[in-house]
Amino acid sequence: MKLGLHFVVDPMGWLCVSAVFGVWLYNSFFVPKLVLLPHYREGHIPWVIVICYYAASALCFAALFRASTADPGHLPMNPHIPHSEREHWELCNKCNLMRPKRTHHCSRCGHCVRRMDHHCPWINNCVGEDNHWLFLQLCFYTQVLSGFTLVLDFCQYYYFQPLTHLDQEKFTTRHELALLRASALMGVVMFGGMSALFYSQLVGILSDTTTIEKMTPFSSEIHGLRRSWQWALAEVCGTHWKTLWFVPFRSRRGLQAGGSYGDHV
Ligand SMILES: [Zn+2]
Ligand SMILES: [Zn+2]
Repeated sequence: MKLGLHFVVDPMGWLCVSAVFGVWLYNSFFVPKLVLLPHYREGHIPWVIVICYYAASALCFAALFRASTADPGHLPMNPHIPHSEREHWELCNKCNLMRPKRTHHCSRCGHCVRRMDHHCPWINNCVGEDNHWLFLQLCFYTQVLSGFTLVLDFCQYYYFQPLTHLDQEKFTTRHELALLRASALMGVVMFGGMSALFYSQLVGILSDTTTIEKMTPFSSEIHGLRRSWQWALAEVCGTHWKTLWFVPFRSRRGLQAGGSYGDHV
């Protein structure tokens, strides 16, 4: 398994991805410290809840790291163009390279990206053929983690029994209300935003239309193929094994021979 790293030099993108990382770090630190671990120590919640929260947090971080550092779909300098597809290839007048149909040039990344969906500043990377599955995982695990956080914040005030062993002089205990309110606000924003994004991404994948194509007139005449949801997601994730759709640390290979060039992430 070869997992190459790909970084986009864009200070605005670094700022955005740092903000997303900050939200993840804040919740992964304060929710266990204020809610999970104290209630576990006093026997109010089982250990399995603690493990599940840390697993959701780890998978969310892994998906963020992989989506922002994976190659979205670079083209090789001298691509092998199948004879049957020659008429569909064209020259990019910005990077002066031959590229297949549905490839777009990203001005933020400075190169062409196969089956480019959009450039996402929040991961400081393009979303293209080779990392679309990782972007979907990021949307999914962010929903899971923020939903979990919201449930725990809610339970802390309306369901869990009060804690008995608390050091009232500790910073986190004195400012618990403010810290958990900030966590709940982040949870609502992330859960709402990611649910809407995940839904629109799924609709695009099932109708075989990228975000760029949705915004381009007449794109439905070119694409919009009818496929089963299993086939559409298997193609994006590069495997028919559904369990692997949820695993961020693996490499991907296109299912169709005509749609892949060289090693994928
Ligand atoms: Zn280009
Ligand atoms: Zn880009």
